[in-house]
Amino acid sequence: MARYAYVNGRYVDHREASVHIEDRGYQLADGVYEVVGVRDGKLIDEGLHIDRLDRSLGELRIAWPVARTTLSFVIRELMRRNRLKDGLVYMQVTRGVARRDHAFPTKPVKPAIVLTTKNTKRIEADPGPGIAVKSQRDIRWERCDIKTIALLPNVLAKQAARESGAYEAWLIDADGCVTEGASTNAWIVTQDGELVTRQTDSGILAGITRHTLKSLCNSLQLKLVERPFTLAEAKRAKEAFITSATSFVMPVVKVDGDTVGDGKVGQTAQRLREEYVRFAAAGEPVT
Ligand code: PLP
Repeated sequence: MARYAYVNGRYVDHREASVHIEDRGYQLADGVYEVVGVRDGKLIDEGLHIDRLDRSLGELRIAWPVARTTLSFVIRELMRRNRLKDGLVYMQVTRGVARRDHAFPTKPVKPAIVLTTKNTKRIEADPGPGIAVKSQRDIRWERCDIKTIALLPNVLAKQAARESGAYEAWLIDADGCVTEGASTNAWIVTQDGELVTRQTDSGILAGITRHTLKSLCNSLQLKLVERPFTLAEAKRAKEAFITSATSFVMPVVKVDGDTVGDGKVGQTAQRLREEYVRFAAAGEPVT
């Protein structure tokens, strides 16, 4: 089956899709992206992801490459062409093509837009045995709230985690607190049963899954506090987990080789994963 990508107004064969070598995303990582999860043909929280794309573009003063309604149409058309049932839609917007210079182009250039899709296994309520995380110093910049394609510190942290046998990296700030994962938000459940996740400031990405899970916690009447937590606190926690558009809610059973709680998937994480899967399954169908 042919697989398509969308590149600057055209649906093209994925194998032949390409961008200009002087695209500022390619040369300077001057661009932003979004990842929207798809479960059973339904987009998860599309509106919130597009709102965050709008914010990221605004922060970097990159214009919208197409109208918002056009983007929604393109997402659906690409899903249809690629017969996407479970997986994700990736979208990227860069400042465009210009003679290489760090400063913005002086002549107006059209932002470049690329969309691709990826098939994955359907995410179910059973999380399996949970995952291990490995701590790494957070060496990123001070605007982690912008979802930019400049991801080298995240790439290196994730790779170091994988080389140590862990699935995700937990990034540690100068105060010894966990900011977030390399591509996920980080949560713990204290021995008193209180959920803790870092407040959204410029130190982390305001995850859309994090946002929705907050509402689910609220409706389940779970106590949630948004504050920094240390690595030591995470190791003493009853439970820990990560959230993202592609992992939903994934329990963490080991931090730097130390077991969290009894080393098994915790009740709260399991419950929240079930609730999130239910929410995702009820999402907006693609017509
Ligand atoms: N934090 C970082 C650094 C990320 O890259 C991501 C997702 O890519 C997240 C958190 C989770 O965000 P979301 O729930 O919107 O996928």
